[in-house]
Amino acid sequence: MEKILKSARKKISNFERLNFDEIIALYEENNLLYLAESARRVKERKSGRKVFYTINRHINLTNVCSANCPLCAFQCRSGDEKSFTLELDDVEKILLDAKTVDGLSEIHIVSALHPNKNFDYYLDVVKLTKKILPNVKIAAFTPVEIANFAEKSNQSYEEILTTLKNFGVTNLLGGGAEIFSPRVREIICPKKIDAETWLDIMRTAHKIGLKSNASMLYGHIETIEERIEHLIKLRELQDETGGFQTMLLFPFQPLNTELGAKFNLQRVGAWEDLKMLAITRLTLDNFDHMKSFWVMLTMPIAQLSLGFGADDLGGTIGEEKIIHAAGVSTRKNISVDELKKIIREVGYEACCTNFIDCRGVADE
Ligand code: SF4
Repeated sequence: MEKILKSARKKISNFERLNFDEIIALYEENNLLYLAESARRVKERKSGRKVFYTINRHINLTNVCSANCPLCAFQCRSGDEKSFTLELDDVEKILLDAKTVDGLSEIHIVSALHPNKNFDYYLDVVKLTKKILPNVKIAAFTPVEIANFAEKSNQSYEEILTTLKNFGVTNLLGGGAEIFSPRVREIICPKKIDAETWLDIMRTAHKIGLKSNASMLYGHIETIEERIEHLIKLRELQDETGGFQTMLLFPFQPLNTELGAKFNLQRVGAWEDLKMLAITRLTLDNFDHMKSFWVMLTMPIAQLSLGFGADDLGGTIGEEKIIHAAGVSTRKNISVDELKKIIREVGYEACCTNFIDCRGVADE
């Protein structure tokens, strides 16, 4: 172990790529302050003193889902008391309201797999968004949703992605990756697309010029080795396409989930969140950005994460339903002034990702 750690430290000091054994050794050594300092060096090499944020609005179109993943607290069956599905009129009201938000730069659309909504419904939402907010980035749909659209409309992934791009989608979301291990997926989300399909849809998106995020869901029944294998698969695809913009880590929220109840799971602690963040920053040497999703992490941990390699605090959000369904008690929105204050307290410069592809434009 000492020999492997020595090699890992040498590589870290030279900004060289870590291998699987070295990453595991760093995880097991559990030297949080060393990991923080090392990950921060990587962050500052990539984005200097900047920390990004977005003025955005989330739209969750429906929680009615045919996949019934045990990991999920958001899903409902049709007719369920808590079920909802937005029609185009509802979406229009949200978009017109979003239009009044000063500096809005992104609409973020993610939903469940509604059994009775076809691809045209989702496409109409994109068209409406583009019509009402022509200059705003549309970050929409995960590979899980893309696979669902393809199956329902009998089109290839490339056809679906090209149509979405042509009508205004600017970025694909990175959700649904969970953990790539087939052993784990069989238990936590057996009906969801497998890892190869998730990666293939991302590869196709990147090929046609749609950038995307990537993600990992940790802190449930996966092993540490399975986490690191997941990260290495993302790193390999990024070597191939260069299409991932930002990496997000999602700690599993067990409340109100079948998975949490079955395995009596508790949410992992702050130490694990920060350690995984630093390990991920060190592993994904070819990713430019790491986002801390404050809704899931809580703002105190998200702020601390800026000292562990994150360089993006995400958005103002406006309204969020998926994570709050799992009993998360963080707020559903935050003001720009609060985000700036949180970033400046750490000693970094707050930068708004303003409009399409202008990441890095300082807010003042
Ligand atoms: S995780 Fe997504 S696909 Fe699975 S049940 Fe929840 S909403 Fe449906």
